Amino acid sequence: MSGRHVSVALLIGAASCALAQRPGGAAQRAEQVPRNDPLVQRIIDEGLHHSHVQPDLEYLLDVIGPRLTGSAGMQRAVDWAQQKFREYGLSSVHAESWDFGKGWTRGPATMRLLAPQERELFGASWAWSPGTNGPAAGDVVLVDARSQADFDRRFRGKLRGMWVMLGPAQPITNPDAPPATHADSARIDSIARANAPHSPEEQQFFGQRQYQIANEHALGIIRDGGKQFGLLSMSGSPAAISPIPQVVIANEDYDQFQRLLARGEHVRFEANIANSFARDDLKQYNTVAEIRGTEAPDQVVLLGAHLDSWDLATGGTDNGAGAIAVLEAARILTASGVHPKRTIRFVLFSGEEEGLFGSQAYAADHRRDLEDYQAVLVLDNGTGRITGMALQGQNDLADLWMHMFQPVDSLGLHGELVVRSGIKTGTDHLSFTQYGVPGFNYDQLTAGYSHTHHSQIDDYDHTVPADIAQAATIMSVNAWQLADLPELLPRGR
Ligand SMILES: [Zn+2]
Repeated sequence: MSGRHVSVALLIGAASCALAQRPGGAAQRAEQVPRNDPLVQRIIDEGLHHSHVQPDLEYLLDVIGPRLTGSAGMQRAVDWAQQKFREYGLSSVHAESWDFGKGWTRGPATMRLLAPQERELFGASWAWSPGTNGPAAGDVVLVDARSQADFDRRFRGKLRGMWVMLGPAQPITNPDAPPATHADSARIDSIARANAPHSPEEQQFFGQRQYQIANEHALGIIRDGGKQFGLLSMSGSPAAISPIPQVVIANEDYDQFQRLLARGEHVRFEANIANSFARDDLKQYNTVAEIRGTEAPDQVVLLGAHLDSWDLATGGTDNGAGAIAVLEAARILTASGVHPKRTIRFVLFSGEEEGLFGSQAYAADHRRDLEDYQAVLVLDNGTGRITGMALQGQNDLADLWMHMFQPVDSLGLHGELVVRSGIKTGTDHLSFTQYGVPGFNYDQLTAGYSHTHHSQIDDYDHTVPADIAQAATIMSVNAWQLADLPELLPRGR
């Protein structure tokens, strides 16, 4: 093996762990990575030179559009994805239902600053929050309480009819161009540290302060978009339906409000929002297709990404890119004539943005079969090309991953794909690792992801089809390798 990308700590950890638990296991496993070079070359050629990523991505984003879970757009995407899987020759194509909860529809929203100056503001409703029933104007107050006692002392009985800013403005950083000076960076870090909850008690209070504010009969809550250049970041979930209207505005405006309040100015804000909730709870669907295994069809390698998106734009980097990569991997593998020993299954999850709900439901529904899942590989870090893999606590698989990357190393940055120790959070692989299934989420170039995701510019123009084709190609090669390994991988913890 070559240890070029693996930290010393990981090498020591991997060696002692592997030797203690299964003599020679890790090394043997790595040597067993199938080396059918003509087939791998066919997969790579199909992925890089006959790609369908661009037209499929363009159709999903520009024609189908936003895919908020529970919306008509999401249903169109589920129907279209099944049609594409069939067209590409996959088998067992179907949609699996799960219980989502209340649907939510964004209505028109306008926002204005009324005092100390008058101007229109560009903002958006937080998801799963109600409308205002007409124009709702009120004074703005910054609620920076960090504990229940602090809130009770300073704000109890004082918020009626007011628009409440939820904490101080966030410090803004450009993740693709870090602060120029050490002083800048130290200032940003210290604001971020000061804003964050410092104890479990503070964390708990931050989690439910919106309900405290609603109980005080505030008009609504104003959130900080938290990004540069007026970009918003929105979220919300049927698991936390907001009792009062909530809006997100640009960081620049939020920061201005905060400066005005600090000067003692009277700040007045108005919003007019018309959202609606579905009357009944909804079922939603994960889209499933597979290439059936020839020798162990019940053993499964799962390639996954979420098809749902937020609705301020068309969900290009979060996660049209990943969904199209998984669809494209299905096409690449069938077009390459792969007949894997294990089943390779492709799952486009829904409800990810509201709390990994679709993948949680899938894993729960299939929990009796998960012992036979070889691995789950997820792509959900934007449009940037794959740079490597974090081992998600299974450091004894470092050798294996380095062997699996060998045939596609040249597609990495500087001709290398990096295997590193590290645990990634926030994507659908977590729904499987909790059952011990080896689950991974590829590392990718950021490619502006911190700006685009959950924003009003998460669209086709911010995707990189060539990078998604690279990702689909690597996922295809890895899926085939894992499907043909002699043994199942050791379970995660
Ligand atoms: Zn995502």
